[in-house]
Amino acid sequence: MKILLNNNDLNRALKNVLKLGFVPTMGSIHDGHKSLIDKSKIECKETLVSIFVNPKQFNNKNDFQNYPKNIKKDLSLLKKMKVNYVYLPSYKDVYYPKKRMKISINKNDKILCAKFRNGHFEGVLEVMDRLTNLINPYKIYMGEKDYQQLYLVRNYINKKYKTKVVSCKTIRNKNKLALSSRNFHLTNKNLNIAEKISQNLLSFKKKLIKEKVISRSISLKKLELIRLFKINIEYLELRNKKNLKKTNKIKNSKLFFAYYINKIRLIDNY
Ligand code: AMP
Repeated sequence: MKILLNNNDLNRALKNVLKLGFVPTMGSIHDGHKSLIDKSKIECKETLVSIFVNPKQFNNKNDFQNYPKNIKKDLSLLKKMKVNYVYLPSYKDVYYPKKRMKISINKNDKILCAKFRNGHFEGVLEVMDRLTNLINPYKIYMGEKDYQQLYLVRNYINKKYKTKVVSCKTIRNKNKLALSSRNFHLTNKNLNIAEKISQNLLSFKKKLIKEKVISRSISLKKLELIRLFKINIEYLELRNKKNLKKTNKIKNSKLFFAYYINKIRLIDNY
């Protein structure tokens, strides 16, 4: 496994590489990331994983500073996963030269996380644009766990590059909680609550098909979750998975959920 510490290393290493699979991450590697890497290894000749905690996508300074970091452990895990390259760029590697880049999310897309995290997806799209430009991958692997991110990045990259964005299923732990670097911040008690919430919503989504007035069932479910688990809910919404429009039809839908559990923000979709 080659560790690429800057853009010189990157350009030298990738000079003759064709069909490169790219897995962008912010580190704290877990089995969710591993599933993306495994898919890339099947479909591509070589696989590059980047670890870059992108300041531009954090709408809260504390959240950025407290984002879990564990580079030694990450490198040892990635080595075991037989990744070919790990790219660890500095801020300058990604953002210099400072060409002006005006990325805006259109009004219709200011929903779900885009509504609650001002500037977040603009930051995600900018970093993905710059990384794609630097790395020029054949395919990029991204998780359905962050479905809105996948949706926006895929639309953006498809329009501008030849690179294909591949979606990968959400990986959950044995108690059905979606793996996430943010889970490292949870106490055992809150981890247990987050698992119960995931189980609750997975079975709710399955039963939703039998409900007559779906919007009312969702409103009631929100109240129930707040009462049972004392959490702060940002949104619980059923949306069409192809266009992310609000829907009352179960077919092609996903239930999108964001909440705070003791100041830790978690998102999922079912
Ligand atoms: P992150 O390091 O959180 O920025 O995530 C890097 C990539 O891994 C993103 O494309 C995520 O959607 C994906 N990912 C994170 N958690 C999971 C999971 N539990 N299952 C599948 N993909 C995931």
